[in-house]
Amino acid sequence: MIDEKLEPILAEQERRNAGEPEFHQAVREVLESLGRVVAKHPGYLENALLERICEPERQIIFRIPWVDDGGQVRINRGFRVQFNSALGPYKGGIRFHPSVNLGIIKFLGFEQIFKNALTGLPIGGGKGGSDFNPRGRSDGEIMRFCQSFMTELHRHIGEYTDVPAGDIGVGGREIGYMFGQYKRLTNRYEAGILTGKGLTYGGSRARKEATGFGAAYFVDRMLTHSGSGLEGRRVVVSGSGNVALYTIEKLTAFGGKVVACSDSGGYIVDEDGIDLPLLKEIKEVRRERISEYARRKGSTVQYVEGGSIWDVPCEIAMPSATQNELTGRDARTLVTNGVIAVGEGANMPSTPEAVREFQKGGVLFAPGKAANAGGVATSALEMQQNASRDSWTFEETEDRLAEIMRHIHDTCAETAEEYGDPGNYVLGANIAGFVRVAEAMRALGVI
Ligand code: GLU
Repeated sequence: MIDEKLEPILAEQERRNAGEPEFHQAVREVLESLGRVVAKHPGYLENALLERICEPERQIIFRIPWVDDGGQVRINRGFRVQFNSALGPYKGGIRFHPSVNLGIIKFLGFEQIFKNALTGLPIGGGKGGSDFNPRGRSDGEIMRFCQSFMTELHRHIGEYTDVPAGDIGVGGREIGYMFGQYKRLTNRYEAGILTGKGLTYGGSRARKEATGFGAAYFVDRMLTHSGSGLEGRRVVVSGSGNVALYTIEKLTAFGGKVVACSDSGGYIVDEDGIDLPLLKEIKEVRRERISEYARRKGSTVQYVEGGSIWDVPCEIAMPSATQNELTGRDARTLVTNGVIAVGEGANMPSTPEAVREFQKGGVLFAPGKAANAGGVATSALEMQQNASRDSWTFEETEDRLAEIMRHIHDTCAETAEEYGDPGNYVLGANIAGFVRVAEAMRALGVI
């Protein structure tokens, strides 16, 4: 339910951004939490602060021409939404996926504002991407596309302006090609203009692992906080990209048993626990489909084409694929099957109905903007290393990440308690993230 004082803000935002359902969903979800804040601190209703938070500071849409291997010229659309820079330079990933449109990038950019605020680090919120589909494209095509994307993007970013990174469809390879093109266009080695870089050219150790590791740290602390633990727990992780792989790695190290993961074609169930070296070889090195895992392992592994991975019974669910992948029906199935905790590795993977089902069922629920903030937090650590021309050890970086995730967890838990709903991490994350941004915006005046 949304507070009646905030209803007109949502209505105006919906009117102004027709055809952007994911953006509306993300705004509604945050505004639903803010009723208790404005009741306590009516000052946040002044100077159109909330209206300003909902409106991106700048939205850039551009053409990306590139030449495929057959010599044919192709066109895609590129986006960068520079949403909020009250806390620092715009910061957020770039997504290459055919589903990308302005509304998707705005929802992601909006989430990013509060996620980045929760890290306690000096980073604003932004997001970018393209409707380019990397599936089946050769390495040369990927390189030419990334170069063309950066040919336009380079004039809008900078160490003190906007610092993109990866997201779905954009990993180390793509960041490398984009960094190379930026360097060539500007003739400047500005390592701090992108994060998620390779270790040979200014990247940070533990950045690749950070989102997944961070999600595992968060869930571990959430369980400990409620008097429970991960040891021996049966876990299902959706997806098999960067976030999923390193969530599986860390949860396994914490004593959990991950039995299933997926890609857009289907899911696998391996009752012996996922064989991570094999999964990494298939997904990271060979870039193959997950069905290949089942083919290699033989009859001990079940591959289900299509279907819902959430039909696989588990105690811990980690949706780590994409937005709205876990529906109300899935949540009911999970609750019936005894799930005790859900940690969102992806951005907004649970539908609003699913979140309500989890809360009704007494399930510990860690929203993405808190649980998956380890990636962007480590990006901020990469920026620190670049600014000081330094390079930290893996251990040092992971220790900082673990500390940041502890801080995010505890801030969310304490804020939920302060606002009268202990254990409600959605409320805690939204309020704590909002208050930090709102305080900075108030201090900076009406801009
Ligand atoms: N794409 C990631 C996210 O959703 C990381 C962003 C970054 O490192 O800037 O938070």
